[in-house]
Amino acid sequence: MEINQVKISRILNPTSIDLGEYVINPFMGCEFACLFCYVRSNRVVARKNKPWGEYLDVRANAPELLEKELVNKKPKTVLLGSTTECFQPQEGKFKISRRILEILNRHKTNYVILTRSPAILDCLDLLKEGFCRQIYFSVNDYPREFKERIEPKSPGFILRDQAVNKLLEEDVPVIPYFSPVLPWISELSGVFAKFPRAKGVEFECLNFRLANIGQIIEIIALVEPALKVKYTKMLVDEKFYHQVWSEFKKYIANQAKSAGKEHNIYVHGWGDYFKNTYR
Ligand code: SF4
Repeated sequence: MEINQVKISRILNPTSIDLGEYVINPFMGCEFACLFCYVRSNRVVARKNKPWGEYLDVRANAPELLEKELVNKKPKTVLLGSTTECFQPQEGKFKISRRILEILNRHKTNYVILTRSPAILDCLDLLKEGFCRQIYFSVNDYPREFKERIEPKSPGFILRDQAVNKLLEEDVPVIPYFSPVLPWISELSGVFAKFPRAKGVEFECLNFRLANIGQIIEIIALVEPALKVKYTKMLVDEKFYHQVWSEFKKYIANQAKSAGKEHNIYVHGWGDYFKNTYR
């Protein structure tokens, strides 16, 4: 893993994601190296010409820039972690995300966070100050052989569930966000019971238009060869694609009804790349 401290010229970047006016990404790169990460095909990442997950640029001057930019841009809400994980292991050393939260709180700026890291709990004191509007916490559940290949370096699923429950206990607004759902692989039974204090659970289905979908299918087939035919069919057969997700929707709706919980499912449209829609 190559780690560099870099200086950037801007930390608040406008975004089309409907969760904030600007995004903040304290790092460039990500130690977790998820196979399905849409950032892998990002133009800036492509220019790096290094494998995703094997480098990390720590944006060391991000807090100082943020102090200045908040005064000029005066955003109401910002989104943290659209192209990186703010609470990956190196955050423990550099504390950049922590300093960013301190500044946002001081400026009374609301924020939304995307994460899959229980290390967010190191900032629980800051999250409880009232400016954290929502955390979308990516939970998941695959058999070990798939986890090792698909999310090789991300924290374990049980730790993530525990972190979500701790945030819920502490009244920090958090949505258990099951992402991405992998048909015939994701373990979904009893998913609502895992988060007793949550109003509901949200789901994002695998995006079959990811640039590396062929590689994803090959890796899944290494663990379970029979899935190659089914995944390839979803890739090329629109009717089958909708049929699989429609059965999934019914299955979740039934579970939600029995559990008395809310649910929301995001299925990427046929042929859509990524719509940046969370609500
Ligand atoms: S944790 Fe998020 S940013 Fe990091 S590789 Fe996984 S999906 Fe991408």
